[in-house]
Amino acid sequence: MIAFFIAINIQKIVLQNNIIVYCFRVILISILFFLLAKIGLTFSFVQSNITLFWLPSGLGIAVLLILGRKYWLGSSIGAFLANYFTEAPIGFVFAAVIANTLEPLISHFILTYLFDFNKQLSRLKDIGLFLFFAVLLSPILSAFVGVTGLCLNGMLEWKRFFDAAFSWWAGDAFGILTLGALLLTWFFHFPIKNTLSKTTEGLICILCIVAIQVIIYFDFNLFLPVKYFTWFIFPLLIWASIRFSQKVAIAFAFIAMIIAVVGTINNHGPFFTGSINSSLILLYSFISVIMVNTLTLTATIAERLEKENAIINLNRERDTLFNSTDDFIWSVDRNFNLLSANLAFIERIEKVSGKTLEKGNSLLQIHSYSPEILKFWQNLYERALAGESIKTEFTGAANNALSKSSIDLNLKPIYRDNTIIGAACFGKDITERKRAEESQKKSEQQLRLALSGGELGLWDWNFSTSELDMNDRWLTMLGLDPGDPKPNIDSWSSRVHPEDIGKLYTLTNNVILNPNGKNFETEIRALHKDGNYIWILDKGAVVERDNDGNPLRIVGTHMDITARKLAESDLIKAKEQAEAANKTKSEFLANMSHEIKTPLNAIIGFTDLLVISNLNDTQRQYLNIVLQSANSLLELLNDVLDFSKIEAGKLELHMEKVDLFELINQVVDVINFRALAKGIQILLAIPTNTPRFIWTDPIRLRQIMINLLSNAVKFTTHGQIKIIIETNYYNPQNMDANINFSVQDTGIGISKENQVKIFEAFAQVDSSNNRKFRGTGLGLTICNDLLALMNSKLEVNSELGVGSIFTFSLFLKVEYGKNIFIQNKIEIDKTVNEVPNGNKFKVLVVDDDLVNLSLIKTIIRNILPLATILDAANGKEAIEVFTKEQPDIILMDIQMPEMNGHEATVEIRKLERTRDTPIIAVTAGTTDMNKKE
Ligand code: ADP
Repeated sequence: MIAFFIAINIQKIVLQNNIIVYCFRVILISILFFLLAKIGLTFSFVQSNITLFWLPSGLGIAVLLILGRKYWLGSSIGAFLANYFTEAPIGFVFAAVIANTLEPLISHFILTYLFDFNKQLSRLKDIGLFLFFAVLLSPILSAFVGVTGLCLNGMLEWKRFFDAAFSWWAGDAFGILTLGALLLTWFFHFPIKNTLSKTTEGLICILCIVAIQVIIYFDFNLFLPVKYFTWFIFPLLIWASIRFSQKVAIAFAFIAMIIAVVGTINNHGPFFTGSINSSLILLYSFISVIMVNTLTLTATIAERLEKENAIINLNRERDTLFNSTDDFIWSVDRNFNLLSANLAFIERIEKVSGKTLEKGNSLLQIHSYSPEILKFWQNLYERALAGESIKTEFTGAANNALSKSSIDLNLKPIYRDNTIIGAACFGKDITERKRAEESQKKSEQQLRLALSGGELGLWDWNFSTSELDMNDRWLTMLGLDPGDPKPNIDSWSSRVHPEDIGKLYTLTNNVILNPNGKNFETEIRALHKDGNYIWILDKGAVVERDNDGNPLRIVGTHMDITARKLAESDLIKAKEQAEAANKTKSEFLANMSHEIKTPLNAIIGFTDLLVISNLNDTQRQYLNIVLQSANSLLELLNDVLDFSKIEAGKLELHMEKVDLFELINQVVDVINFRALAKGIQILLAIPTNTPRFIWTDPIRLRQIMINLLSNAVKFTTHGQIKIIIETNYYNPQNMDANINFSVQDTGIGISKENQVKIFEAFAQVDSSNNRKFRGTGLGLTICNDLLALMNSKLEVNSELGVGSIFTFSLFLKVEYGKNIFIQNKIEIDKTVNEVPNGNKFKVLVVDDDLVNLSLIKTIIRNILPLATILDAANGKEAIEVFTKEQPDIILMDIQMPEMNGHEATVEIRKLERTRDTPIIAVTAGTTDMNKKE
């Protein structure tokens, strides 16, 4: 079994791989063991290798307890070497080895595996275990094995077995009790931390111990016989035990013991009886008592110290904990005096009263508090001291404080042995919280006021729970009773007008789904309880989002805007009515102008005819005046007609490809006569890069240009007028261009303030002008309105007395054709129309107005005396005549009863297959002339 045990141990050692360290330590232990054994063997019984001074056993047990049981080998080798060189038979040597190996092993096993043994010997329990198992029991086994070895090898008679065994046990027990205890206490307590005064005291103590021991055990006879001093070691060791640490006390005891042993061995001291053995046994019994006392005393003190330390640490931790908070913690005794308090409490009282509170100070004598406040506190303490647990709030101010502070209070009685010895108090300063609560309350109040003042309904939509909360106004706005169950988000949506719900969803979704979306605002209709829809201005904002940007809360307001909406719709209606009235007026004007133009045409026509008939000079002069006046009237009517048409929204543009050069020529043709009459030259500035063809409404462009040009002629007395055409930009891909048209004159000019006015309808620069220059004040307005239809406008640049330039620019589709180069001066081509003159030539004149019909017929007869002139009163008759007579040309009025000129032309075009009879429209003007049928 032993072999097996050894094998396992060796295996463990090897496996641990620290073989070198292990070997080194084992050798060291062996040497130490050997040396101590050698000292011990010096005191052995003559023939028996039994010694009363066996320190190696102390080394053996300490080594195993400190380093581990694998170091048993050190004791074994040490024991072997020590006994081998004593001439003892080898059998005994082995017995001694087994005894010295088993002894520490068995102690180690019992203490380590069977008990909760603390190797530092710092508890009384450890001292007890150590004394009983290591000191008392384990040497018994060693003594039994060792003495058996002696007897078996004939070194001792069997009859002396117990005697020898006792000696063996005593030597071993002594070694364990002294050296074992010393090593165990010292090994675990390094390093020594001592103050200087403690060191001095220690030195004095050890000097006293050494002195007294030397005096006692080396027979220094002073005044009294030394044996009376034997017990003096006790108070000294008690001193050491109480004042110093356990290890110091044991070290001192060990030194005292060594001196005693050395003295006794040298035949000195109170325990020397003449025989070394009995002397040592006496001494050992004495030393044992000392050691056991010292050990137990130091352990007791160590244990108490540990507890005290634990309490001190606990108190320190508690104090740190209490002082680390800003809350107030304190306790009062039954007389309202301070028992304990944390830093925050002391500081607060100090701040309030300027006094540093100390334990025992009365808490009801803080003079900076008013008597009422102190009364409040007294009442609280009294209630707590009567056994009540109190939770309350204190609000008050010290006499010197500017503002009140609020404290949340908790008071509880403190019990000791079932009686109340005081009250524990806990206070939390909630002044800031209170203030925040109050300001929140205030702002809530203000908000409520604002909401009720603004008649606003408030809603709060918790997006995550889908809960909808609202104030009473929100409900009453919809005719709901605040007491009724509140609507949820679905029932609210169902109240929204079907035409508005989509808009509301889109808006809210935009805000909700976009993590940066904040506000929305919309006007919707919502169903009132009375069945009508009311208009609501719904405003909302996301006020809370989670980390992923999903909305958590959306809050908003409702405002009843029904009244405003009704007013708005009334306004819109009124505007529409006004517009309609204006339109009717314009239509009336347009119709009226047309009606006036028809007879006017006749007046002009017949007057024209009359002028060239046989008249005397006075008659001709009068007729010329009539003719001039009629022409002016016609011009005015044309302007009024255009203006009314534009106002009535009847005027449309008809785009077509136009030869720009031809158009400009025509314009100049119209005006040139008047210009030449005034001695003014009209110049053209048209660069070669100007496109020949443009897509525009030629009639309207011509009208604008004629208007500008005739104004220029009208307001210019000398100098020249220039038409400038510039191409600002041309895109060959899209074939579009931006062309500037300008008319520049050297006339009277317009002042800056009047430059704005002239574009207003009927506005002229001044009345004197009006008298000097004829006109309606509509020309520029019409030009501007026409240009607005072409996405442009007139601009004027003018200086009084210097001249004016009127400009507009048009974005047009263009085409570059063969450029006819026109430079500066314009020659007027008088084109003579070639007209057929044969008697077979048939002209059909269609007009419902008999005067007009007669006028046209007279004019034709004047031009073509041999022609056959046919007539018809409306479209229907015209078709009949056309079918019967096949006329060469038709002059067709547009507005006629039964069938108008348009319809008649369409029918005629259907009837003729082979040829296109020229049909010339003759009209007073409201009808679209551009439609080619
Ligand atoms: P009107 O029929 O009176 O000419 P317009 O609208 O054409 O009406 O012109 C308004 C006013 O603008 C004119 O009465 C005139 O005072 C001023 N005006 C227009 N063109 C010129 C110009 N080229 N030079 C000076 N004044 C001009």
